[in-house]
Amino acid sequence: MQKTSDTTKLAAILGDRLLTPESTGFAETAEVFVGGPTRTPAAIARVRTAQEVAAVLTVVRETGLPLAVRSGGHHQARHGLVDGGVVLDLRLMDGVEIDAAAGVGRAQGGALAGEYIAAAAAHGLTTGFGDTGTVGVGGITLGGGIGYLSRRDGLTLDNLLGAEVVLADGRVVEANAEENPDLYWALRGGGGNFGVVTRLDLRLRELGTVTGGLMMWTPTPAALGTVLRAFAEGPEELSGMVNVMLAPPAPFVPAELHGKPIIMALLVHSGTAAEAADVLAPLRALDVLVDGVRELPYAAMFEGPGGPPSGAIGDARTGFLGAGTWSPDEAWAAAAIEAVSGAAGPSAVNIRPMGGAIARVDPAATAFAHRDPAFMITIGGSAPSLEALPAAEAWVARTAEALGVTGRGYVNFMGTASEQDVRNAYPEATLARLREVKRAYDPANLFTSNHNVAPYGTE
Ligand SMILES: Cc1cc2nc3c(=O)[nH]c(=O)nc-3n(C[C@H](O)[C@H](O)[C@H](O)COP(=O)(O)OP(=O)(O)OC[C@H]3O[C@@H](n4cnc5c(N)ncnc54)[C@H](O)[C@@H]3O)c2cc1C
Repeated sequence: MQKTSDTTKLAAILGDRLLTPESTGFAETAEVFVGGPTRTPAAIARVRTAQEVAAVLTVVRETGLPLAVRSGGHHQARHGLVDGGVVLDLRLMDGVEIDAAAGVGRAQGGALAGEYIAAAAAHGLTTGFGDTGTVGVGGITLGGGIGYLSRRDGLTLDNLLGAEVVLADGRVVEANAEENPDLYWALRGGGGNFGVVTRLDLRLRELGTVTGGLMMWTPTPAALGTVLRAFAEGPEELSGMVNVMLAPPAPFVPAELHGKPIIMALLVHSGTAAEAADVLAPLRALDVLVDGVRELPYAAMFEGPGGPPSGAIGDARTGFLGAGTWSPDEAWAAAAIEAVSGAAGPSAVNIRPMGGAIARVDPAATAFAHRDPAFMITIGGSAPSLEALPAAEAWVARTAEALGVTGRGYVNFMGTASEQDVRNAYPEATLARLREVKRAYDPANLFTSNHNVAPYGTE
């Protein structure tokens, strides 16, 4: 009964944009990218303005209902879905304004990366996100944002110039280098801990044609070393990601390779094919199985399906490798290939080059402090059903151990959100500073469905 009157208060604010389990479209709206055990929210609040966000937060504060904030709904830990609580759904706030003269892209808090990239591309401009257009600008930016342009332009959060934030007490504030600089610092890596971000101002750069696409190689330790060295030692115009994985049954993969271990890269060189030729030469000298790298508009890198289908179940662990231009030795590369060869289902060791512009930022300048590693690594295991999830989790744990993936990690790729994960995401000094900002902006810890920075925890 209590819940019904609570949701009635929300319906008075949002009308038919307040969905309860009885509403048409509730199940589809509640869906997040990653599947898992059932979580049924009491209500989904489909807000359109910062003022509506503030009004919903007032009801949440008064009723004590658990709260989740979601934009793209892609986080592996399923932060955007809270059982028995209110999902503050930002997806109707998907506006993107490209101010070419100022060099600033302004995205509402529920816009998707692909929507932003398409709008910016119309002006020959862009901001670097990841490799997938269906990820929310809000989630990827507040946690980090590593992708096709990050060695050249830094993480997405390094390009966040400012934001409009609805705080836990309902105030709507700006956060940038001049206004609320402590909040601005915390937003760049601290995730959804500090408020609901209703507008993100991002630095734009000119980018039209790039040389990019997918390459695939026969997996040998030497080949993996060569591929990773090409990224670590190559020019900053080259970024991307490398997967050691079982070849998916996709149309661009020759049928005889389906289910076999491969090395695969999705890459972008921000230049013409002629400019990229020397950089790509060592990759093309390997035993190439597929070479789809060509000149194309940058925005075309985000067309097509964005990874595994919605509802995929799995587990993921992240970490970092080496420093500077480190690349793996043969034994490590062999262990990665062996682990994937023994995986039961679609599983991958995903390795992303860092360095370049990422490493030039002072670790204390943003709440994302892992500036020195050579690579970020994520071990992802998929399960065909909930029953098979423990086997996927065991594979992820075994592989993490074999590859030395322990300790610090990237908050946006963490499959779980324990206190230890939070400590892995933030070095001690960063976490202490995040707690200070949390005490100033969300002392009652209203925003908990995230990698939670508890206001009064200990490091
Ligand atoms: C297929 C796939 C590909 C990916 N590729 C990359 C990649 O290339 N590079 C990379 O860095 N990451 C990548 N990611 C990880 C991705 O960055 C994170 O999952 C990110 O959290 C997703 O953001 P979201 O808004 O879609 O998710 P949500 O689940 O909606 O949100 C995630 C977290 O951010 C908070 N949040 C989101 N928006 C707001 C907002 N406006 N205000 C306040 N809090 C907010 C939520 O409360 C939640 O805690 C990928 C994930 C998937 C599933």
